[in-house]
Amino acid sequence: SGAARHIERLVRPVPDWPQAGVVFRDISPLLGDATAWAEVVDELSEQIGDLGRIDAVLGVEARGFLLGVAVARTLGVGFIPVRKAGKLPADVVSSSYDLEYGSATIEMHADALEPGARVVVVDDVLATGGTLQATIDLVNRVGAEVLATAVMIEIDGLGGRDLLTGRPCLALHTF
Ligand code: IMP
Repeated sequence: SGAARHIERLVRPVPDWPQAGVVFRDISPLLGDATAWAEVVDELSEQIGDLGRIDAVLGVEARGFLLGVAVARTLGVGFIPVRKAGKLPADVVSSSYDLEYGSATIEMHADALEPGARVVVVDDVLATGGTLQATIDLVNRVGAEVLATAVMIEIDGLGGRDLLTGRPCLALHTF
């Protein structure tokens, strides 16, 4: 697709960052290209729109905000921020998940979603799936429903897709 070609061309691989052996996929050049970025946002929004009515888009700090806000605006629904622990000011629900070394905690405002709300979770990159799975836990905690997850980029071979079973996981391009 057009979006996949833009991602292939404008997402920059940075070897050995943030640590040796990791190839970090840097979306900055894609964000800086107005035409390519618009096509990526529009294509992901269209795929999400095809799933049926949704009430909100959730995005995970920090690059998930960039894509999530744009997709929410395109679909005409609200955006709900999911943040690292300690950043949101009002009452929160929390979910912790394992990283390669240690663990991470993410949070959402407890009143962000009505029970029964249907949402899609958006992030820039799917790697191990831990971040998206923890976000699904947050949504379930308040009695709402994740219809699908959606990313620009899926990193193959890290097990992310196998973790996120039970609902569609949309991805525009796989590395
Ligand atoms: P996961 O939880 O292992 O699936 O990692 C996904 C999270 O880490 C997402 O929020 C991404 O923003 C971030 N991430 C992991 N790998 C990369 C990468 O290569 N480029 C950009 N972000 C990444």
